[in-house]
Amino acid sequence: MTLPDDLRSDLLALSREIHADPELAYHEERAAARIRALLVKRGHSVEMGIGGLATAFRARVGPPGPSVALLAEYDALAGVGHGCGHNLIAMTNVGAFLLAATDPKRLEVAVELIGTPAEEDGGGKIDLLNAGVFDSVAFALSTHPSAQCAWAVSGSGLGIVEKRVIYRGLSSHAGSSPERGRNALNGLIRLFTGIDGWRQHLPSTSRVHGIIDFGGDAVNVVPARAEARIALRAKDLATLEEMVAMFTDIAQGAALETATTVEITEYLRLYQPVSANERLGDVVVEELRQRGVEPQRGTLVTASTDLGNVSQKVPTDWVRFPVSPAPIAGHSDVMREACLTDLAHANALLTTEALGAAARRVATDAKLRERIAA
Ligand SMILES: [Zn+2]
Repeated sequence: MTLPDDLRSDLLALSREIHADPELAYHEERAAARIRALLVKRGHSVEMGIGGLATAFRARVGPPGPSVALLAEYDALAGVGHGCGHNLIAMTNVGAFLLAATDPKRLEVAVELIGTPAEEDGGGKIDLLNAGVFDSVAFALSTHPSAQCAWAVSGSGLGIVEKRVIYRGLSSHAGSSPERGRNALNGLIRLFTGIDGWRQHLPSTSRVHGIIDFGGDAVNVVPARAEARIALRAKDLATLEEMVAMFTDIAQGAALETATTVEITEYLRLYQPVSANERLGDVVVEELRQRGVEPQRGTLVTASTDLGNVSQKVPTDWVRFPVSPAPIAGHSDVMREACLTDLAHANALLTTEALGAAARRVATDAKLRERIAA
């Protein structure tokens, strides 16, 4: 399956437009509208606002019943814009859907494109799973740009939860009566140093990191409240649970040391580790090989995605494709610029063709579907 020239230029324009106009999680109105416009131009109808999310959508062709779904993402990062390259995730999955959806009469099961908002913050796929949007999905495929300069299929990722932490103390004049105050910021700082001490005992695949959202109103007032958000990541759920328990102890220890109190609540719901279906991945690998690409298999990426939650429910695999000639930092200004280069777009177009062909094969080969689902 090769992309006709006019579709190539439409997909590149889509990628550039989304990249130039970053929108944050759950507010990707213009990106969703741009994708919809391209699908409509290509003769598809698009159901907007599925699963109760304004910026989620679905386009579908083929018979009723189970489907092969391609999952597009299009949200950006606060402060960095498209430093995760979701413009390329949108472009590749839209293109793969359009390829796989050609000649719909030959499809034995449906092919669909699901627009999934809020991967970076919130977990739109979790909302869509809970709303039943994936109930008829039998196989899921998607993509992600790689900052590691590597082609990879059947990769895994870390599970993640994020906690909001609020320390509360007592305000007081920081000069005339500090002895009457209890410093909530001191509690929070001790949490961060406690985490730094803990980190040396964590598995090398675990991650803990956070930001301080609030540390006081005025220098001359002992802060009565301090707030942070902290992410905990691990490659399996058992390790993640142990980490949450230890994190809670450290946070309470910091409160005890400073005579403050701490409240810990959920900020980001659990993103499960990605569990790829290697038989589905084999189909994608065969298509990449035919195009001269030999991908790595089973690589652990120490990032996290709500695609993991989909992968726990339906057979799922994804392609990671390079956007730079050497490894770079993900979620960075450098990554943002890399996700707009000719190299990135060439690899995205190759990925689009391979993924479209793989989706098409799954949707037209009953034996293959049985093997994958077994
Ligand atoms: Zn990201």
